[in-house]
Amino acid sequence: MSRTLPVQKNDYIDARFEDLTHDGAGVAKVEGYPIFVPNGLPGEKAKIKVLKVNKGYGFGRLIELYEKSPYRVEPQCPIYKECGGCQLQHLSYEGQLKAKEKQVRDVLQRIGRLENIDVHPVLGMKEPWRYRNKAQVPVGEQEGGLIGGFYQQRSHKIIDMKECIIQQEKNDEVVQAVIEICSRYGVTAYDENTHKGDLRHVMARYGLTTGEVMVVLITRTNELPHKNEIIKEITERIKGIKSIVQNINKQKTNVIFGDKTKVLWGEEVIYDFIGDIKFAISARSFYQVNPEQTKVLYEKALEYAGLSGNESVIDAYCGIGTISLFLAQKAKKVFGVEIVPEAIEDAKRNAELNGITNAEFAVGEAEMVIPKWYEDGNTADVLVVDPPRKGCDEALLKTIIEMKPQKVVYVSCNPGTLARDLRILEDGGYQTVEVQPVDMFPQTMHVECVAHLEFKEAGVK
Ligand code: SAH
Repeated sequence: MSRTLPVQKNDYIDARFEDLTHDGAGVAKVEGYPIFVPNGLPGEKAKIKVLKVNKGYGFGRLIELYEKSPYRVEPQCPIYKECGGCQLQHLSYEGQLKAKEKQVRDVLQRIGRLENIDVHPVLGMKEPWRYRNKAQVPVGEQEGGLIGGFYQQRSHKIIDMKECIIQQEKNDEVVQAVIEICSRYGVTAYDENTHKGDLRHVMARYGLTTGEVMVVLITRTNELPHKNEIIKEITERIKGIKSIVQNINKQKTNVIFGDKTKVLWGEEVIYDFIGDIKFAISARSFYQVNPEQTKVLYEKALEYAGLSGNESVIDAYCGIGTISLFLAQKAKKVFGVEIVPEAIEDAKRNAELNGITNAEFAVGEAEMVIPKWYEDGNTADVLVVDPPRKGCDEALLKTIIEMKPQKVVYVSCNPGTLARDLRILEDGGYQTVEVQPVDMFPQTMHVECVAHLEFKEAGVK
């Protein structure tokens, strides 16, 4: 028996938005039934057209705003609506930080059943624009020439984009120059439908503190036509260019990178500093995209680790060793674990580059390597995790609970899985002392958190 819903498809209703979804839509409720409406902001009253109704929730379109949020602003980007890369440009930065804090608090309560947790106000940027150090731009064709752009929402059509105002200006300049040069030499754009054409994506990476630039040309073909002329022009035109790399992706897929990467010109890596530590970054390694806020994030992680110099520390999901090397400055010993072999090579190289001798790195799944270490009689005083969006594997959480490091520092890019994992650790005897959200991705709904946990014997169930 289906219960009658309070609204039907094509109804026009008046309602007030109470919240934002994780992808930035407004949530209006009719007799408790939630309707998700793009562009609605909490507090606003509006006329809504109901477009679709499911059992538990519906979707609508904003028809008219009766009352505007004091935090509503004009989006700064002219292609904000079509692009979809940002979700919050219509909300002032102050409003964004408040919304993200609320999101973290709500999710910790709802999913983690963590009631009186100290969630601090989000640490934001002074200038929340032009922060990204990496651009990955799909290449298309228009009137015979190449364009770099973005995929139109819900389609594979590439729309021309001359600038992206959350990118470092240098990246815009590099992408435009590379595409103009390739276009002049008759390079063709990859076409998803026919699986023909040369160039799929252009990636630009910029070392903010060093000014070094890496260009990666992702091609379908083994050879880039007019390779030598193109390289010559890129190197002449782009100040700071240190590395030109080709990645070959022959697959019919929307995954950007293929398996084969070769250096066409210059170095295999570019360098960047976070604080006093220098990092070598290769084309395929994970490196945080907002370097200014990365420093804020890592400093918080270091503060929560509370190191005195005598501790052994495990850094699970260590990537190229960024957090590990930060911690190694203040710890006796750091062990980093990461699944991608190239990242571990970078991590070892980065330790050497900085003269850090008390950090060791191992390739493998954190949930396999760390339990094995523990079985072999090793323990840690502090354990740091920084997992991908899906959170920590249960086997790893189980080992943490058995190993009982005094402190756990949990760095998370997904509040939902953070909340789930904190609940498991709390049930295993840990107490979440505080959570600090950090805004690594202004203008988008993404939010990063660092949680500080202490082992409290009394909490064991
Ligand atoms: N701490 C690093 C990287 C964080 S991103 C930094 O701040 O730069 C998460 C990392 O976890 C990625 O490098 C990814 O390759 C790695 N990873 C994913 N699954 C893993 C697993 N099961 N075990 C170990 N590492 C994993």
